[in-house]
Amino acid sequence: MITRARCFQSALLTLLCVLLISGCVVNPVTGEKQLSLISESQERAMGAQQYVPTQQTQGGKYYADPELTRYVSRVGQKLAAVSDRPDLPYEFVVLNNGVPNAWALPSGKIAVNRGLLTELDNEAQLAAVLGHEITHAAARHSVQQMQQGMIINAGMAGLGMALTDNEYARMIMGGAALGSQVVMARHSQSDELEADHYGTLYMVKAGYDPEAAVELQRTFVRLSEGQSSGFIDGLFASHPPSARRVEANQALVQKLGNPGGALDRATYQNKIAYLQQHLPAYKAEQEAIQSYKAGNKQRALDRINEAIRIEPKEASFYALRGRLYEDLKGSGSAQARSDYDKAVSLYPEMFTYRLQRGLNALQLNNLQRARQDLNAANESVPTSIAYLRLGDIAVKQNQRQQAIADYSQAASADGEIAAEAQRKLAALKSAQ
Ligand SMILES: [Zn+2]
Repeated sequence: MITRARCFQSALLTLLCVLLISGCVVNPVTGEKQLSLISESQERAMGAQQYVPTQQTQGGKYYADPELTRYVSRVGQKLAAVSDRPDLPYEFVVLNNGVPNAWALPSGKIAVNRGLLTELDNEAQLAAVLGHEITHAAARHSVQQMQQGMIINAGMAGLGMALTDNEYARMIMGGAALGSQVVMARHSQSDELEADHYGTLYMVKAGYDPEAAVELQRTFVRLSEGQSSGFIDGLFASHPPSARRVEANQALVQKLGNPGGALDRATYQNKIAYLQQHLPAYKAEQEAIQSYKAGNKQRALDRINEAIRIEPKEASFYALRGRLYEDLKGSGSAQARSDYDKAVSLYPEMFTYRLQRGLNALQLNNLQRARQDLNAANESVPTSIAYLRLGDIAVKQNQRQQAIADYSQAASADGEIAAEAQRKLAALKSAQ
């Protein structure tokens, strides 16, 4: 149904499109005319550049069971193939993040937190989540939000759940911060309804029972009613559930004639079995973080040792234990160093582990190791702290130009780190 307001809007848009010919496109999903200031090649570049940094600022990859990511990708690609933009470079990843959430960056770069996978019952529900995210990407919802300046103030909330995440969150620089802001921004109710609508159509085309989408929505509404902050911060912040969404989905399924289809519960349960079995390890990690924050470092050590006993492949556990050993035994602790080595060897690209090991090496005056790790951290996700300490290393090595370059980078950020870099930069320049 086209209302008068909508009609007027459409006429206005047509006029704008005439004025701004190059900026006007037809939305590939809805067929509606839209003003587009961000081209498709910019959209693709944004997705490609932001995907890895955004994964890392949201907890990093869940790599302990690589088959789980392969499985989620297979289901995702099946849906992407029947979507309105099958040609986008879709990718899917499972993140090591206990908050129930999923997100899509422009051009189909999609992630699902392990904390959401453990809330789902069957493959059709997973398909509902992925179909929804595919629509956000295909219909350019985030691109439109960006264009309207709705992203900028979203802040860096909702990072992963490790101890270091909140410490480093404010230090993340430039482009690497943008991806996080995009995925944490709240979608409007009309974008949510659209993502549900087309996501459901893609599910049906791929052979899944669309009733699973309705059931999932019902569960989310129920969970959001009396719920833990994890839910509020995660899925419900960026994709707010509502009774209206449930009703709209239900009406659509009826309109489609209740087509039925696959649920694939057994397959799904089988694929998440490893994750389910190892959940106590992540629970122990959270207990260790809480104990650490409460000042009970001995209990924190006990809990993280328990986490490592259950899941010895998880890098974040070693990173946390390294931090504990540093606190309990000093920077020179051999146990701390060995834990940082282990974390980096398990997940070499993860910026937080490189930062922790690099900062520790600098404390011990191992300048070469420190520089190597801090540069590696910056390659994944640039931070003001890494640039500041790289500047300090350059000063120690009498590399004045390098020090000026590194301090200048750090000085361009905000906060205390930038202030320290500005002081050091001024001192360096006046000493000439
Ligand atoms: Zn959504």
